[in-house]
Amino acid sequence: MSRNRRFCIIGRMERIPVFDGHNDTLLNLLLRRRGQGRSFFERSETGHLDLPRALEGGFGGGLFACFAPPNPKSGWDEESALRITNEGYEVAGSPPLDPDYARGFADAMTKLLFRLEAESGDRLKVVRTTKEIEGCLTDGALAAILHFEGAENLGTEPGALEEFYDLGLRSLGLVWSRPNAYASGVPFRFPGSPDTGPGLTDAGKELVRECNRLGVLIDLSHLNERGFWDVAALSEAPLVATHSNAHALCPTPRNLTDRQLDAIRKSDGMVGVNFAVAFLRDDGRDDANTPLETVVRHVDHLVGKVGIDRVGFGSDFDGARVPKAIGDVSGLPKLLAVLEEHGYGEGELRKLAHENWLRVLRKTWGP
Ligand SMILES: [Zn+2]
Repeated sequence: MSRNRRFCIIGRMERIPVFDGHNDTLLNLLLRRRGQGRSFFERSETGHLDLPRALEGGFGGGLFACFAPPNPKSGWDEESALRITNEGYEVAGSPPLDPDYARGFADAMTKLLFRLEAESGDRLKVVRTTKEIEGCLTDGALAAILHFEGAENLGTEPGALEEFYDLGLRSLGLVWSRPNAYASGVPFRFPGSPDTGPGLTDAGKELVRECNRLGVLIDLSHLNERGFWDVAALSEAPLVATHSNAHALCPTPRNLTDRQLDAIRKSDGMVGVNFAVAFLRDDGRDDANTPLETVVRHVDHLVGKVGIDRVGFGSDFDGARVPKAIGDVSGLPKLLAVLEEHGYGEGELRKLAHENWLRVLRKTWGP
């Protein structure tokens, strides 16, 4: 294919906005504010996502995670917990977080998101309805959904969800990769099954009902398999994994087995494809020299299992190592171009890029 034709494709695909299932930009900004002082409104070479690069990449918005990182005082950190094995790696389980510590982080990140909205001059909006997202995609403002990654952010009472809902919370991951009062997350290892521990607690089941009652999206990424089946049995909403891949292609507990994908299809839910190379590669290695075709293979597998209406993106920008070929959010048009070269038509690309997310959010949140 000639150079010119390639530029032509990229130019056209830039007009399809991408709505994305997961980024960790809030934590990245919060931690860097103490150090390097990266601003969301200035183009940086650091991190993956800021407003100028989002505009370059056609990024229309997504779920902005509030994730409380492991407490350094607990003595656990990913590096020292990592053990290399013959087949891959194993990270010793992260201990539960003190709920007050988690809530402190969640409050700081929530405040930061609203401050970004206030300082953005209408260029970023914290959205609570799908109509608002549609408006943003039309006007070119960034649509940000307030998302908690780990229900320890709420404290230990499921009833606290409503307070956060009133504030604007519209999406909740029951766990990160650690246990909390509601459920247990999968540890990081390769290879491995997601069947790693107990299902939801009674408080977890109550929290699922609260999410259904209020219309809060329940994110199944990081949840272990028994917890997944508990939610599948209990929830009235479509089953959604915001940033996970296919276990059949990369057998880490963070990815979804074909049985889980069948349940997602039956519930009319969806999967956001994670760009984290460790969850893409068949050898599980955290190597940025991972070709875009590896992402395409996961899209193909997921589309084969759940259908073209139930796959989107869940980049994990600012939270994981992504393929060099994407680099950061400004590289999204390259991924769309590779998907097009691979045979996905414009209508299918629109579904993958944002229409499927809008459909599932409409079904979950209500009209
Ligand atoms: Zn995550």
